[in-house]
Amino acid sequence: MLYLLRNAECFAPTYLGSQDLLIGGSRILQISPSISLATNTPIQELDMRGKWIIPGLVDSLVHITGGGGEDGFASRTPELKLSDAYEAGITTMIGALGTDSLTRTHSNLLAKARELQHGGIHCLCHTGSYHLPVRTLTGSIEQDIVYIPEFIGVGEIAISDHRSSQPDMAAICDVAAQARVAGMISGKAGIVSIHTGDGSSGLKPLLDVANTSDIPLSQFYPTHINRNPTLFNSSMDYLRSGGFIDLTTSTTPEILASGEVKCSQALAALLAEKAPIEQITFSSDGNASLPLFDENNTLKGLQVGRVSSLWDEVRDAIQQENIAPEIALKVATLNPAEVLKLSSKGRLRANGDADLLIIDPDSLAIESVMSQGTWRILDQKILHKGPFE
Ligand code: ZN
Repeated sequence: MLYLLRNAECFAPTYLGSQDLLIGGSRILQISPSISLATNTPIQELDMRGKWIIPGLVDSLVHITGGGGEDGFASRTPELKLSDAYEAGITTMIGALGTDSLTRTHSNLLAKARELQHGGIHCLCHTGSYHLPVRTLTGSIEQDIVYIPEFIGVGEIAISDHRSSQPDMAAICDVAAQARVAGMISGKAGIVSIHTGDGSSGLKPLLDVANTSDIPLSQFYPTHINRNPTLFNSSMDYLRSGGFIDLTTSTTPEILASGEVKCSQALAALLAEKAPIEQITFSSDGNASLPLFDENNTLKGLQVGRVSSLWDEVRDAIQQENIAPEIALKVATLNPAEVLKLSSKGRLRANGDADLLIIDPDSLAIESVMSQGTWRILDQKILHKGPFE
């Protein structure tokens, strides 16, 4: 089956104007202002006049096997459902463990990633967790990244957090060195995903490593940078030093009231300071626990992160913060794909992967989702659910 999507306003995420897209197999075969075909192959032609076509979203941090557990076993958050990912417009995601690497395991993480791949999601993983020394699947970071196709980096390694292993600079440096070389050998990102907590040292441990070793700051991919004003305000210098930052879209009214900076507003503030947009990403932290601690680090409440928050914050950046769509779209498409060295994800191009979303330009609602050349949602009707949904 070939698909010809006609007359769509195309964001690649660069704005391309009105384009026709020809899709066959799992690929975009052609993007052109006008495509004419003479073929006997069955073709579904859809007029997309007035709609946007954008790349499928890339979510660089999802707790696909669930996370949390900061309030006992009853606070373990659930696994991600396939339909949740498609309804959120996410076609590429990175799964990771978090606080709990005792009852949550890498073998389960890998199996869950393969379940999601079977359902049409490009799902990869990180080895490790908050904990140092790292726990891995095969015994080392290097072996996991080099030998297991799905493992592209390590993390979330926790720093500046009361739940971290309180790692010293040498321990962080050692993890980064292993991930870096394993990434080079295997042609992967070898990125070190960093869970940044509310601790007063903030991003300093990463700057210390970069300033005193040969590990570049860009080896690290720190997330939750919008979690408090002090950490967020330090991010501009961090960006100017060449680092990437990731802002977490999942939140609650209580967490925002306690000082977290709403993602879309954080992006607007960074752009007002002329921050380098290429170094900024959003991720959902989907299915993580969202604990609320008081000033003594006593747990006050716990909710669960949602993958749907990723598009909600991109939408709010466009609608409420008046950020140009082709800029706002980058933080959840091209930018994370570049950080993670996923060269065919997060962008629309001829001979690229057919992962795309159809968006209503007025409401910015996700109307249709295609991954790997197959409709998963069409006209807001979900066509593809997980095996037991
Ligand atoms: Zn985290």
